[in-house]
Amino acid sequence: MISRIDLRGSLPDDLRDVLPRAELDVEAALDKVRPICEDVRHRGAAAVRELTARFDGVELKSTRVPVEELGRALAGLDPAVRAALEESIRRARLVHRDQRRVDTTTQVVPGGTVTERWVPVDRVGLYVPGGRAVYPSSVVMNVVPAQEAGVPSLAVTSPAQKEFGGLPHPTILAACALLGVDEVYAVGGAQAVAMFAYGTEECPPATMVTGPGNIWVAAAKRLLKGRIGIDSEAGPTEIAILADETADPVHVAADLISQAEHDVIAASVLVTTSVELADAVEKELPGQVAATRHSERVTEALSGRQSGIVLVSTLDDGLRVVDAYAAEHLEIQTADASEVAARVRNAGAIFVGAYSPVSLGDYMAGSNHVLPTGGCACHSSGLSVQTFLRGIHVVDYTREALAGAAPHVCVLADAEDLPAHGAAIRARFDWGIPS
Ligand code: NAD
Repeated sequence: MISRIDLRGSLPDDLRDVLPRAELDVEAALDKVRPICEDVRHRGAAAVRELTARFDGVELKSTRVPVEELGRALAGLDPAVRAALEESIRRARLVHRDQRRVDTTTQVVPGGTVTERWVPVDRVGLYVPGGRAVYPSSVVMNVVPAQEAGVPSLAVTSPAQKEFGGLPHPTILAACALLGVDEVYAVGGAQAVAMFAYGTEECPPATMVTGPGNIWVAAAKRLLKGRIGIDSEAGPTEIAILADETADPVHVAADLISQAEHDVIAASVLVTTSVELADAVEKELPGQVAATRHSERVTEALSGRQSGIVLVSTLDDGLRVVDAYAAEHLEIQTADASEVAARVRNAGAIFVGAYSPVSLGDYMAGSNHVLPTGGCACHSSGLSVQTFLRGIHVVDYTREALAGAAPHVCVLADAEDLPAHGAAIRARFDWGIPS
């Protein structure tokens, strides 16, 4: 069901060549996504509606969800789901509120200050996936950091669902209502990203689009980046587990399955120093997979080339492997897990010890679950308040403070053969550099 890669002995120089990873060719998808985005750019809402009919099988009258539908969805929400969503929101708020940035002012010289002012983007479009599975939890994970950052205008979009009369899934609408979001669109895929990037008659343009999605969403974000700001490319889910002989194979198997459930191209990777654990997990998997609701999808994900068990000789080698892999989610199930976790450099989020499974982070840890995938965790972070903020430097120097810097500015300007830079300083001192 799951392949094995034996890296005991010396590790190869470029580990990324040998580690399991989904072949997700976002570049190739760009060719398909480009005409979709151009169509939305030129024909606006009519194009979005036609693309929704083509890809989602829904004829929309309007791409915007009527506000009454949000209230209706909330009224019909199962009380247990409502309580769970409210608790998820409460916990996420606690963590994200602590991420707010405080403006800092540095006095560089007497009379010369630089202030870093944190300003939220004006308007964001938040993508909530809804193809294979629906993710009301992603409403929470997108909306809470944007709200805590103080973004003044935010809109949510999620694919139209045939079985719900062309609206997004009712739990998604109810989650929007709980969070006080009343601007919601029934649009998915690349056309949703283009709708926010260019704006339509029914949807004002946004400055930024965030949120996880499939390859079409990721490709549209990559294509339109620059015109809009984006978060990291949060594509098909990945879990890596670094474990030693102290890990419980039942937990490890359950956690590998839990992320394989997302998508047939989701990746589940176990990196372990223990052959006994690897054997026990392999033995455990078939029974748990057979018992799970989405066993077909899970089987395909676990047996795909993106999943596997990697054997290593030492925990140090294991750390090198997980750093090279840079997983979206990394669980540490070893003795002294906190110490091992502190040595990890590349991961979207780290889950420490037996009682911090990824499923907790998906819904209720308070952490964000929109995380970089495909190895992007080596340079990008998950969604946070910071994602929605820009740090603007405010430079404020007096005449005397400028006089102190003037000779150095003029020297460096001349060294770069940019004499007009120096002239802009001299003009303020009757064309002489103050000494
Ligand atoms: P989705 O909402 O991303 O995509 C569905 C949309 O894709 C549809 O509305 C349709 O318009 C478009 N589409 C479908 N087929 C198409 C085609 N052939 N050409 C062009 N467009 C097409 O939902 P999904 O498909 O379920 O994918 C969600 C993804 O998000 C999963 O891979 C899941 O693992 C991932 N996810 C990631 C994170 C994270 O933080 N990394 C979190 C949650 C979900």
